[in-house]
Amino acid sequence: MSQKVHDAVIVGAGFGGIGAAIQLRRLGRHDLVILERESDLGGTWHVNRYPGLTVDIPSSTYSYSFEPNPYWSRLYAPGPELKQYATHVAAKYDVRRHMRFDTLVEGAVWDEEQHHWTVSIAGGERLHARLLLTATGFLSQPRLPDIEGIESFAGEVVHTTQWDDDLDLDGRRAAVIGTGATAVQLIPEIAPRLAELTVFQRTAIWVTPKQDGAVPRWLQRMYARVPLTQRLVRTVGSGILEAIMVSGVLRYRQAKLLNRGVEKIALRHLRRQVDDPVTRAQLTPDYSFGCKRPTFSNTYFPTFNRPHVRLETTPIARIEPDAIVTTDGGRTEIDTLVLATGFNLWDTNFPAFEIIGRGGVDLGKFWRAGRFQAYEGVAVPGFPNFISLNSPYSYSGLSYFTTIESQMLHMDRLLSEVARRRVTTFEVTERANAAFLDRMIANLGDSVFVQGNCATSRSYYFNQHGEATLLRPTSTLNAFGEARSFPLEDYAYA
Ligand code: NAP
Repeated sequence: MSQKVHDAVIVGAGFGGIGAAIQLRRLGRHDLVILERESDLGGTWHVNRYPGLTVDIPSSTYSYSFEPNPYWSRLYAPGPELKQYATHVAAKYDVRRHMRFDTLVEGAVWDEEQHHWTVSIAGGERLHARLLLTATGFLSQPRLPDIEGIESFAGEVVHTTQWDDDLDLDGRRAAVIGTGATAVQLIPEIAPRLAELTVFQRTAIWVTPKQDGAVPRWLQRMYARVPLTQRLVRTVGSGILEAIMVSGVLRYRQAKLLNRGVEKIALRHLRRQVDDPVTRAQLTPDYSFGCKRPTFSNTYFPTFNRPHVRLETTPIARIEPDAIVTTDGGRTEIDTLVLATGFNLWDTNFPAFEIIGRGGVDLGKFWRAGRFQAYEGVAVPGFPNFISLNSPYSYSGLSYFTTIESQMLHMDRLLSEVARRRVTTFEVTERANAAFLDRMIANLGDSVFVQGNCATSRSYYFNQHGEATLLRPTSTLNAFGEARSFPLEDYAYA
């Protein structure tokens, strides 16, 4: 019996996977299977449900440019609206019917003879597809801290990605471990309900003011009637973010003054919002702005003025059944432990499951033994017909949607050429990949990661070799330009 070979298997039904499916359908590839380990679509926005969850990039920018939503309730929309938006887009572009939920992919192997990928699913099922696309996210594998005694804790423990909607926080004595973007959103929301809150900070985070607000009905109506108005807002918002989050970070050598200016704004924000000088000093980052992902908030800092909220910066020694003990012997009794400890990118992602290419080469081993690399953030030599959407050097640093949409353009150009040539395989050449990697490494020389002071930042932008291989060190415009015009001969076709 001949095997069924699909046009493509996409792994991940978040915004990346949805975008990839829309693009494949536009190219006439309709026999798609989207495999998703969770019980519904939306990726991050399905998994994360913690109190205070909002997007931290303005919503006009954090959405597909081809599917603007005039009805965001706020400039920074709450999490549930993002999930709703994902559901809406998947329905409108008719990609939901390709999705299979609660389906864990365990591995994929390139079949050299048949010229297709064989994808293994937990439980033993196998699928075959001409193309394999991974859209498994960067922040998808929760990090559970390896702290002595944590398993002995007798109270309630919750990681922010596994929020229990029934968790009753009223009157509890809680600790939050971690002060990343998630904690910055969560802490002000839960603090008023708690009897005591201790925040365990290892590394302070840069926080700038958030220009947020409700979007009035008349403005929503105007966005709906005259989409150009919302496009203008998107352009202005993206321009500001590009300056702060991309130029100020990736072109640090040239834009040092801009970077310092943002640092000053953040420090003034902190001075104005936190009364106690000791707490203020503890909340002051000791590394350059941009070494790790900064965030925006008007409510995080003032939470530390509340009498029942305390910041603890002495390292944690161990956890006991009813307390956290710090290395100075201090003991904080708690009944609830919130782990806002983020995600493991470099050990468990890249890739999120085993991928075996030509000649039995294991992608994870290839990246770890050599360098993390991917041509234009999407393709790897030795891995034919494979499009990796969460690759090293793929994230534009602006909004995840600019990354997705530039990758959709890359797919458009590449797969149109494959169709024009009537070939069955494509594979990026060693030469093109090496040239791209050399250029990214050279560009990184201008970034805050090399020019700034990042030694103490403990940033997930850096991989286990100490290289900042997550962000694409170019402007977003450059990423779009190259996606539209990369030399077609950078790929070999057969
Ligand atoms: P994160 O930025 O990685 O922060 C994790 C925090 O946990 C850090 O403060 C880290 O300290 C701390 N931590 C981890 N292990 C620890 C340990 N063993 N002991 C003590 N502290 C420990 O993760 P996140 O806050 O979840 O945010 C991840 C990313 O998600 C953000 O950067 C952002 O891109 C995205 N995000 C987006 C939104 C949004 O758009 N709505 C909201 C939230 C998050 P160190 O820094 O010292 O390692």
